[in-house]
Amino acid sequence: MSEFKILISDGLSEEGLALLKNVGEVTSNPKISAEELAAILPTYDALIVRSRTKVSEAVLEAGKRLKVVGRAGVGVDNIDVAAAQRRGITVVNSPLAATTAVAEHTLGLMLALARGTAAADASMKAGRWEKSSFMGSELAGKTLGLLGIGRIGAEVARLALAFGMAVIAYDPYLSDVQIRQRQAEPAQFDEVLGRSDMISLHLPLTPETGGLIGAQQISKMKPGARLVCTARGGVIDEDALRVALDSGALAGAALDVFAAEPVQPGSIASHPKVIATPHIGAQTKEAQARAAVAIAEEVVSVLQGKQPRWVVKDAD
Ligand code: NAD
Repeated sequence: MSEFKILISDGLSEEGLALLKNVGEVTSNPKISAEELAAILPTYDALIVRSRTKVSEAVLEAGKRLKVVGRAGVGVDNIDVAAAQRRGITVVNSPLAATTAVAEHTLGLMLALARGTAAADASMKAGRWEKSSFMGSELAGKTLGLLGIGRIGAEVARLALAFGMAVIAYDPYLSDVQIRQRQAEPAQFDEVLGRSDMISLHLPLTPETGGLIGAQQISKMKPGARLVCTARGGVIDEDALRVALDSGALAGAALDVFAAEPVQPGSIASHPKVIATPHIGAQTKEAQARAAVAIAEEVVSVLQGKQPRWVVKDAD
């Protein structure tokens, strides 16, 4: 029996679709335009998106029967959560699904930075054999400094320990006990900057964290330290990072996220000391399948009047 009408506007893995089909009629239109979306939304009870669809106030206004908006993933930058809240529409996400994928990508970037893997590959593809140019360093015995040790930061800590790194972390919203439980040594912000050979960011982009890593903070880092960011663009001042890489103050950086995405020609992504990936932290089959199942369960909960696990509030 098709009780509810559910619209999926960005595509969802098969595992999630099956759960949704148990409770209603599911329409999947991964290329729907904003105009089409507004036109058909009035008859739907639920909308599921990833990051492509912009769920603006106007879209929510069109959703006359809408009870829930589900984001298959973490970031809700594309959803006007405040406007949804005002209309009594519940916004849910699936914050656990990406943890392993992002943490593994972070370690991959750290290893690639330490060994110059990307540049070595490019050099070989250009027909060269420059063995002596690629003198790397090891992760073992080095200090990894984490800024933010929530779900992803904690998993990065666990993986880094397996590589023999010492892990220190700053997170003002966690107690020292909680940070120790996540297998890291609690440290102050400036201490993380000054002691780390590698610094990795795992905090959200908020008014407080925008531009958190600028020229002044970089000047407190160990000479030749390396910086990794798989969190959110905008936390690092990309102009200050460019200056530090040009001067050699920092040896390198690996970035999965950028202040403006997609990046434009000449962005920090094209700097020779930067390893860049196009926001692929959560792009694994496993993470996408987990996100699809998790968001389907959340949406079904809301539609059936049950309490979902991951409600996104405006202040988040
Ligand atoms: P989380 O909420 O579990 O952890 C974030 C941690 O940051 C929390 O412990 C919080 O206390 C801490 N924090 C907040 N402000 C801070 C500050 N000023 N200084 C230090 N710590 C601070 O989130 P998570 O699931 O671990 O995700 C971490 C980041 O990764 C988020 O920015 C998220 O958007 C990003 N992310 C990126 C991708 C990707 O594709 N690259 C995918 C998923 C998540």
